[in-house]
Amino acid sequence: MSAIQTNHRADFPGIAGDWHYLDTAATAQKAKPVLDAIARAYGPDYATVHRGVYERSANMTLAYEAARKRVAGLLNAASESEIVFTSGATDSINLVAESWGNSNVGKDDRIMLSQLEHHSNIVPWQLLAERVGAHIDVAPLTDDGQIDLDWIEANLTERHKLVALAHVSNVLGSLLDAKRAATIAHKVGAKLLLDGCQAAPRVRVDVQDIDCDFYVFSGHKIYGPTGIGALWAPYDILDAMPPWKGGGSMIDRVSFDGTTYAPPPGRFEAGTPHIAGVVGLDAAIQYVEGIGLDVISAHENATLAMARDALSSINSVQVFGPDKSMGILSFAVGDVHPHDVATILDEGGVAIRAGHHCAQPLMDYMGVPATARASFGIYSDAEDVAALVKGIERVRKIFG
Ligand code: PMP
Repeated sequence: MSAIQTNHRADFPGIAGDWHYLDTAATAQKAKPVLDAIARAYGPDYATVHRGVYERSANMTLAYEAARKRVAGLLNAASESEIVFTSGATDSINLVAESWGNSNVGKDDRIMLSQLEHHSNIVPWQLLAERVGAHIDVAPLTDDGQIDLDWIEANLTERHKLVALAHVSNVLGSLLDAKRAATIAHKVGAKLLLDGCQAAPRVRVDVQDIDCDFYVFSGHKIYGPTGIGALWAPYDILDAMPPWKGGGSMIDRVSFDGTTYAPPPGRFEAGTPHIAGVVGLDAAIQYVEGIGLDVISAHENATLAMARDALSSINSVQVFGPDKSMGILSFAVGDVHPHDVATILDEGGVAIRAGHHCAQPLMDYMGVPATARASFGIYSDAEDVAALVKGIERVRKIFG
């Protein structure tokens, strides 16, 4: 198992020592440059953005807007004006559901989701559907845990206004053929929203090449801070969207006779933003780009392949999802409850996630109450896999 090594473990103060962190899909550990950037943003560089005329505030504004450009680069957006900072993917999807959804989805229109979506990419659409009298369709999965795009193609109609899918599943690690999803959606005039929470940290995303209409992700999954994320949409789509939260910064002119709004992206960033979060996200993207997303995904996939092989050869262990899953491996140990599996692994210093992973419809579909999930990052290595295997052997011993 010694073939899989990483030079990057030391970059992460959160995993110092003999602790095996295999819950990166829930939230990634933070690289030192990210922590340093946040400390500077709250320390010697601290000031507000966009309003102050003094030098510190002007500099912070420059840093804030440079981060926007960095996110645009990460996604290959045509312009940084297409990047809206939000508090995370959940916030981004709710923004689209409220602002775009309220004005573009009406009674008896339809929204296409899939069986493997995270609750964040289900509930905002259910709330929208309830508000406007629309309906939700749910695409099934193929036998190897991919969203069934053939089924979507066969079942999309002109009534579908939106297709909203995970670019990478947080439970199965399945990677969507996003370009094909865009072609299929556009054939009936529907928009495509991609939930990029698990893809942005491990796949080179090019929103122009994919030709999707909305892309969302969370900073904390890409080694950045919590409480920050982004929404991308082409400028003309954003420009046609009404504001969804009112307050400072998102306005052009306020009077009691009527208020006019700022152009995007400011229109969607009401209030004092998460300045240090934005600066931290910038540092995280620089860190990731410094290593290279291709290098990160190759490393994660090699680690995952090692784990998949090792787990598959253990009697009574069942692994879920496609053979080529992206950094995420769900599994079961016989009929031992995943919470028991995770508790015993924790005793051996191995941190995995057990539960429904905010994907209860997927659990129902798979016919299980929960799964155990190991997920990998740039800091994962063969010792993590060995500790996981050792822990599972212990689970089997305890439960006979
Ligand atoms: N979608 C997917 C696929 C996710 O993995 C997550 C986080 N588990 C979310 C959406 C929600 O992200 P956040 O909680 O950061 O808003």
